[in-house]
Amino acid sequence: MGRLWKKKEIRILKGNIVYSRNKDELEICEHSYLVCADGKVDGIYQTLPFRLGGNPIRDCGDCLIIPGLTDLHIHAPQYSFRGMAMDLELLDWLDAYTFPEEMKYGEMEYAGKAYSIFAENMKKSAVTRACVFSTIHRPATMVLMDKLEKTGLVTLVGKVNMDRNAPEGLCEETEESLAETEIWLEEVRSRDYRNTGPILTPRFVPSCTDRLLEGLGELQKKYALPVQSHLSENLSEIRWVSELCPWSGFYGDVYDRFGIFGGECPAVMAHCVHSTEEEILRMKEKGVFIAHCPESNMNVASGIAPVKRYLEEGMNVGLGSDVAAGSTENLFAAMAHAVRGSKLRWRLQDESRKPLTVEEVFYMATRGGGAFFGKNGSFEPGYEFDAVVLDDSRLSHPQGLSVRERLERIIYLADEREVRGKYIRGNELFFYGYNI
Ligand SMILES: [Zn+2]
Repeated sequence: MGRLWKKKEIRILKGNIVYSRNKDELEICEHSYLVCADGKVDGIYQTLPFRLGGNPIRDCGDCLIIPGLTDLHIHAPQYSFRGMAMDLELLDWLDAYTFPEEMKYGEMEYAGKAYSIFAENMKKSAVTRACVFSTIHRPATMVLMDKLEKTGLVTLVGKVNMDRNAPEGLCEETEESLAETEIWLEEVRSRDYRNTGPILTPRFVPSCTDRLLEGLGELQKKYALPVQSHLSENLSEIRWVSELCPWSGFYGDVYDRFGIFGGECPAVMAHCVHSTEEEILRMKEKGVFIAHCPESNMNVASGIAPVKRYLEEGMNVGLGSDVAAGSTENLFAAMAHAVRGSKLRWRLQDESRKPLTVEEVFYMATRGGGAFFGKNGSFEPGYEFDAVVLDDSRLSHPQGLSVRERLERIIYLADEREVRGKYIRGNELFFYGYNI
């Protein structure tokens, strides 16, 4: 019997290719060919092998080509007030600005308008994957998922659960919250999305009763879902959690009690600014992902997470924009904020940990966070082919610069204007301009 050979779908980009080998080292391949076969990285070549001849080549000239960035923590409904409302600490900020805004997503017309803007701007950014919070509203969450699916971005989206300490209109009755979540999961399943998946999203312990978390733990097992939430962000919040759950050993212990803190349940926790030794140990044991959100931590005056330590101890760490406590979906800004924050921490708080390097923040934004989505965030063979083409010619300079120097400057200066092309799982989302 002859075997049926299906011809592989090949895509080739040429340019200055940069990715993280590990948290301390960049791999830089100047004027090289990056080859994608059937949505996966085939390899990087200085000279194109004979077997690949005849395939079209997208020549990106002197542009940089990097792996797509992963935003591990962003709130879609808060995108509408990004860059505003920066004058309060976390708990007051939630009451004064966030909850009133999130209440509007009961209105489908508003949700449709707001989520169109969010999805469109995320598409233009350097982000290819994201973990996204919606609101408690099931219909609006479906609108968000439909819109994100159309962009081609790979996202995990969560209908938020809250059944205490929330204003009327955002506070669900416990069993209703669980029932709505299950209806939502069935609805998602019937949509047959290619790029968009559900993620369980208890907002944080202060707004979720034990019974709600227990029910979400049951749904997690039934549907084998990942979980996202917040953890040890702010000192008042941590005190509040110990009052609400006096039986818990520490904040993260609450999630763990209900089976939604790593292990069998992939979990990403935003912030971990003030995690105790016990909490850090449990996160290590369970392989919990940390979404470091440096700008948010500064804006709502939470503090500076010991992210250098987390990296040095081999924990799973990525970056989050945390819009709207963070002002922008531009993840280069998050990288720059992470470096700056770590310098202040080193100077003011703990001299034993050196500031973060460019290599480390680039690693977190690509490979570190990308790992939450599997083999993602690198150009090593076999990784999913998510790539972003960066044209930094706007940032002109009189002197010669190495590719590493250009990457460093992009981290400090770039925004979506540098993003010239974007590829996810081998598909071209867009490529602006001419073929050089
Ligand atoms: Zn958040």
